[in-house]
Amino acid sequence: MATNQPYRNKIETMSAQVVDSNPYSRLMALKKMGIVNNYEEIRNYTVMIIGLGGIGSVVAEMLTRCGIGKLILIDYDTVEIANMNRLFFRPEQAGKTKTAAAKETLELINPDVEFETYNYNITTMDNFEHFKERIEKGGLQKDTSVSLVLGCVDNFEARTAINQACLELSKCWMESGVSENAISGHIQFIKPGETACFQCVPPLIVASGIDERTLKREGVCAASLPTTMGIVAGMLTQNTLKHLLGFGEVSSLLGYNALLDYFPKDTIRPNPECTNQYCIKLQLSYKEYLKNNPTPVTPTPIVEQIKPSTENEWGIELVEDENIDINKLNENILNNNNKPSGDSSFEFSYDKKPTVQINNENTVKVDTNTNLNDLMNQLKNLK
Ligand SMILES: [Zn+2]
Repeated sequence: MATNQPYRNKIETMSAQVVDSNPYSRLMALKKMGIVNNYEEIRNYTVMIIGLGGIGSVVAEMLTRCGIGKLILIDYDTVEIANMNRLFFRPEQAGKTKTAAAKETLELINPDVEFETYNYNITTMDNFEHFKERIEKGGLQKDTSVSLVLGCVDNFEARTAINQACLELSKCWMESGVSENAISGHIQFIKPGETACFQCVPPLIVASGIDERTLKREGVCAASLPTTMGIVAGMLTQNTLKHLLGFGEVSSLLGYNALLDYFPKDTIRPNPECTNQYCIKLQLSYKEYLKNNPTPVTPTPIVEQIKPSTENEWGIELVEDENIDINKLNENILNNNNKPSGDSSFEFSYDKKPTVQINNENTVKVDTNTNLNDLMNQLKNLK
């Protein structure tokens, strides 16, 4: 491997200039396309990632390539050859700590990003206090808190530690996980007091029905796929970008079932009987807040925010169809396939199979001569 010399100098200001040497031109084009108003603000944000496994390492790479201001990376593991079925780490990094190996790669990819790394286990008492202090003071500007905490860990204790720190600091965080058989995963956006915390309903454990603590037994090996990990990492990074830059809608709880290519969505309300007292306290203060602010501001759906472009340099045509209401469609999917009757909890969703059967009556045949309008008409005529 060559020396760790960056391939370019730092870039002072993110520009939209369309030249081959600008690493941000494709990202800044999101502004021109009307998706994000303020892309360059990504440089003001600090994201803390706990766990650099199959999800966390990929999220770190994505955020680095997106030009995030600062990343704080925490992990106590070393890179092993047994990790090579996943993305990001390379065989020659085996034996290095994951934090050192990640920093080495990421600094090369984007020298504009600031990195802070800790090679420790957040669940020990001393480390927990330091970890909490870094959430509170690790932001880019001196003594400001980080913008968002991402939990990419694989065990109950670490999830509980992140939950505890974020409840104590009233800090939003996103939790993520992939099932031990590698075919499902989820992300969850936890807003203390407003949505369920990890201890209100621990989704991964309930979803799998297996106590995670039993998974780490000697000789017991959880399965993992780079595909499932990559998809969940993509879901987590996408929602991080939406949250930080304020576009679209941030998912509260988003699942992924690989066998059915099914993405259930839900919101879990906080449990008034949560075992965590900080959670109960924050739930009460959120109720107070709602009393004083009776109409919570809901983000405008992105479809209404997109202004039609005056020019159409790519010749892309949008076909309007007022019969399709995505929200309604999602609601129907959830109602039909996802929720056990009388219970809106998310945990059982992986067990339910779609009720729609694919057959000749509800499919259309497509050959290379079929044009888009014909296809739309055929689809409209389906029952
Ligand atoms: Zn709770």
